[in-house]
Amino acid sequence: MKRIVNLLAKVLPVAMLALGSLQGGAVEIEKGVSLALAQYRALHISDLRYSLSIMVPDDIAKPVSFYEDLRFNWNGSGDLQLDFQGNEDQLDGIFMVNGKRVNLVLRDEHIIIPERYLNVGQNRIIVEGDCGDKALNRHEDYLYTLFVPDHARSVFPCFDQPDLKGRFSLDLELPEGWVSLTNDTEHPIPTYLFSFTAGKFQVQSATRDGRELTAFYRETDPLKVAQLPTVFDQAALSLRWMEQYTAIPYPFEKYAFVVLPGYQFGGMEHPGCIHFTDHEIFLGPNPSPDELMTRLNLIAHETAHMWFGDLVTMRWFDDVWTKEVFANFMADKIAREQFPEVDHDLAFVKAHYPQALSTDRTLGSHAIQQPLYNLNQAGLLYGNIIYHKAPIMMRKLEQEKGAITLKRGLRTYLMNYSYGNASWDELVEVLDLFEPEHSARAFSDVWVKQRGLPTVSCQSRGDSSLLVTQEDPYHRGLTWTQSLDIAFASPSDAAKLSSQRLYMDAAAIVVTPPAGGRVPVLNSTGDGYGRFVLDSAAIPVLAESWKTMPDALHRYAAVINLMENFHLGNIEADRLLDIFITQLQHEHDALIASTLCTDINTLCGLIDAYQREQAERRLWDMAQEHELPSVRQSLLRNLSLTATSPDIVAGIHDLWSSMSSPLLAPRDYARMAYHLAIMMPDQWQHIVATQRGRLVTDDERREFDFVSRACNPDVEVQARLFGELLQPQNRRVEPWARAMLTLLNDPVREPFSNRYLVPGLDALEEVQRTGDIFFPGYWLSNLLSGHRSPEASEMVKSWIEAHPELPTPLMNKLLENAYWLLRR
Ligand SMILES: [Zn+2]
Repeated sequence: MKRIVNLLAKVLPVAMLALGSLQGGAVEIEKGVSLALAQYRALHISDLRYSLSIMVPDDIAKPVSFYEDLRFNWNGSGDLQLDFQGNEDQLDGIFMVNGKRVNLVLRDEHIIIPERYLNVGQNRIIVEGDCGDKALNRHEDYLYTLFVPDHARSVFPCFDQPDLKGRFSLDLELPEGWVSLTNDTEHPIPTYLFSFTAGKFQVQSATRDGRELTAFYRETDPLKVAQLPTVFDQAALSLRWMEQYTAIPYPFEKYAFVVLPGYQFGGMEHPGCIHFTDHEIFLGPNPSPDELMTRLNLIAHETAHMWFGDLVTMRWFDDVWTKEVFANFMADKIAREQFPEVDHDLAFVKAHYPQALSTDRTLGSHAIQQPLYNLNQAGLLYGNIIYHKAPIMMRKLEQEKGAITLKRGLRTYLMNYSYGNASWDELVEVLDLFEPEHSARAFSDVWVKQRGLPTVSCQSRGDSSLLVTQEDPYHRGLTWTQSLDIAFASPSDAAKLSSQRLYMDAAAIVVTPPAGGRVPVLNSTGDGYGRFVLDSAAIPVLAESWKTMPDALHRYAAVINLMENFHLGNIEADRLLDIFITQLQHEHDALIASTLCTDINTLCGLIDAYQREQAERRLWDMAQEHELPSVRQSLLRNLSLTATSPDIVAGIHDLWSSMSSPLLAPRDYARMAYHLAIMMPDQWQHIVATQRGRLVTDDERREFDFVSRACNPDVEVQARLFGELLQPQNRRVEPWARAMLTLLNDPVREPFSNRYLVPGLDALEEVQRTGDIFFPGYWLSNLLSGHRSPEASEMVKSWIEAHPELPTPLMNKLLENAYWLLRR
């Protein structure tokens, strides 16, 4: 790479500049990318082109460097802020503005371009320096960039906001033997979608529907690599499906993806350079139905983003959920086609309701649309509300508007805003061009713009009719318009069932039940969204008879409704655990059984040691005998990570020693080893050494060597490791840091581990600043979820009381993850 500015230095005089005169232009200079800055620049910058050269040295200790030639149209006034998050010494002291050499000044993460060098019209900036490592994800023999939401500015100077789309061209200078992949698109994309991956990768291409699809991967296991044709098939299916639904051909030139080990997310939708995490793409030898579905969903989700997010992009990251909701919405529809044998209504309820409720019932709940004043806070907007409540909302909006009307509206929206940006409110406006009498606006005002969910209950009235009421938990008088089912069951025979569809468009509606003294069961098919109160007559009906219901949706709804009534305090943990274990014994639907396994695992953590021993024994037996392999697999996995009864731990040790279960993958045995090493402290070194000897690749060994240190029973060592996690450089590979934090806070390590709570919470804001976007939530979950003691509860409550100034989105994440501790 050439240092052109330095060569020019010999021939051109440096323009002198009084530093004190620098202004941020029309907008105040502050760290990050503020909404005000983004709005101002979006108005005054256009026709943006980035031409980048990036040089990656052989030595990982040396910095990656860049040379950038940036062109744009400008019609604003004052100085202009160009985003760069780094230190001045990373940059040459001089940069070129329209052919003139200018002293480079970096202030609060912005390079200030003085007004006097800017033209109204075309401008050209040349700047070079060293890239920060933060978003480069550098490894010995590969790297990949992940810029969402605002990390491009840590690698090269840019206008790092979603509504300034640019055309990118990239030259890479790489170590010998490396290959690379980047977007290569003629179409404008925002900085958060620009990406490159380089290193030692295998490359495989395939043709589907006349289109070339390409995979980059590091996996060496031939059984896993043999799954690539399935991945190509599913990508092709997703592309076909999206082209048909939107009536818009694939909007970018090429379709290629990289499968990455230890990737931070499930995937990321860089057009032409999609990232997937390896363990959701390459499955073990006996993948469960859940894993197969998750893989298709991931591929379909990222592919749907090519239209929703990449072709049309949100104006600002407060609407980031719109692209996520449509990616999920489309992925659910695509899965219907790929797995016709699956009950997709059930799969949808299962995929979204438990997780949406798990956040929405907590004090950390928030509206789907949240305000965002600076992009450096954007990561905190992501979570269950965006990923799971929003799809439920979208399906209810589809019911409200009608499927054909919605499709028509979405096609118009994609056409109108192609290669541009649009907000949720602009989409709502387009939708209300069609069937305006079913107002998307009114629906959105409650479902999208307000937090929380209704508590729905029913009371009999004197005249034998029922009054079904919905209550706003925050007393704002809101009503959530939706349809849901109410069933009427005979207490003696739940199979004798009649049900009605209710349209809840008011705070209270009157329902006339069938004759014969039947018990009303609200939300009997599970697609109602809220907390549905079961009265004392309905609980035994669901508990005793519901498991014999032939309709899977009814049985699934019973699981959700019973679990929610546990959270409401209407049924005790030990009683519900008994009901669920009994139900699991008889359950032959894999989707229902999978949720039962999850709920059983949760409830096991909430009962006393004696009850737990009984429960673990029943579950261990079922793990050998259940008719469904996926149930045996889930139970084995759950027990191997959580069991505390000595004889069950001994059984798991035998299983791990012999590696005799065909249901478990090598990764399961590695995680099992961590738990065993903690539960059998006198044997921990032997367990860790044995497990290490089984690992095949250097990537696996590096991860294991990092994480397994937390198995050491010496509490001084544990405390030191926790101290290391407080240093950002030790959290560089986030999945490793998360795994270690989880082990250090294993439930059996209370009360010693309580000492991590306060420093772990104190580090939260710094964790957010230095980590990737999901990391603060993970950090809190890994720190808190192993704790149930009154002492831990007190510590967390006091910490929350002492920190009212914590930014709202971060406080919400904390309140959500501290749910069990705050519930005490
Ligand atoms: Zn997504």
